Amino acid sequence: MIGTQEKGSTSGVPETPAGERGPVYVTRAFLPPFETFTELMRGVWDRGQLTNNGPLVQQFERALAEQIGLAHPLFLVNGTIALNLIIRALELKGEIITTAFSHPVTTTSILWEGCTPVFVDIDQDTFCIDPAAIEERITPATSAILATHVYGLPCDVEAIEAIALRHGLKVIYDGAHAFGTRYKGESLLNYGDVSSTSFHATKVFHTVEGGSVHTRSEALYTRLRLLRTMGQVGEGFHAVGLNAKNSELHAAMGVANLPFLDEILAQRRHQWERYATGLASAPVHLARIPADTEYNHSYFPAVLPTEEALLRVRAALNAVDIHPRRYFSPAVTELPFIGRTGECPIAESVAHRVLCLPLYHGLSDAIIDEVVDIVSRTLR
Ligand SMILES: *Cc1c(COP(=O)(O)O)cnc(C)c1O
Repeated sequence: MIGTQEKGSTSGVPETPAGERGPVYVTRAFLPPFETFTELMRGVWDRGQLTNNGPLVQQFERALAEQIGLAHPLFLVNGTIALNLIIRALELKGEIITTAFSHPVTTTSILWEGCTPVFVDIDQDTFCIDPAAIEERITPATSAILATHVYGLPCDVEAIEAIALRHGLKVIYDGAHAFGTRYKGESLLNYGDVSSTSFHATKVFHTVEGGSVHTRSEALYTRLRLLRTMGQVGEGFHAVGLNAKNSELHAAMGVANLPFLDEILAQRRHQWERYATGLASAPVHLARIPADTEYNHSYFPAVLPTEEALLRVRAALNAVDIHPRRYFSPAVTELPFIGRTGECPIAESVAHRVLCLPLYHGLSDAIIDEVVDIVSRTLR
């Protein structure tokens, strides 16, 4: 079956031949060679074990520790439940400082666990929480800081750690975009008291659905592990847990995809830089990659001068069947069930003007050039 693959493509997804492109979406899931996956399925069928910490889950967690250097990996059902599990495991109460610019679940996980989110604005160059604005929002009720490494760009982890130390707060990172980013030679997911990530099919690396948590603390790891399996050990129940564990089938996708990670990241770097070079003279504000960062290039956000310009650019791209995405829009503070519009003006302004351009494994230079050309011409 190897012959069905395009030459030069190691993944299971053939590249779209130039000139015959179909619709272009903001992302497209990498798929490993079909035979690699079915071989892993053969083993699952032979063993008859589909879930409950099976050998593929253990193999995937070991690979995350050994190949990526991740602290205490726990493979979970998704990146949303990962946040709930963390807040529960840390027994957080009261107020949690968080960012106004993230996926809504960063905030809803706080609400779901009965805590109160307190919003802080962002740095407009990295889209991450502005550490200089954190301290004024700390009260005696504050228990933690939950920040997002937006688009895989690192938060100012040193400044946040210093603030947390001064005030005795826990630091949690929503690293849903951050898998593959390294900061000062170390996975970004190893920073803070604990981090989550997402392995959803739309992310830079995926297990169809999935996520994980990482902590250097042995005690917190043990607690998270217990809560992941409904608080159950053997036949006994010991805590108020969740069913947050993932299956052998999802772990198989992780095991099959992991050997391609370096290739995926290298290609994304090329694609990202091609966009950045192409748009260098266009009136768009691009992300600043902080120093000491090996970036995973998980998204290509372009901040347009106005929302009106964004709508024109999007319409021009949609007209040729290219579909960028507005995330995150609106800002979390503006969500109807949050109702804190006006609290974080930078986040809200960026949320109205940011467009993520198509970026995925197999996206051709020709399509990138086409997007660059349309964006530039529309803004001229
Ligand atoms: C995707 C995403 C999540 C949720 O992850 P799932 O695995 O889809 O549950 C959480 N936070 C951020 C910032 C995300 O982009």
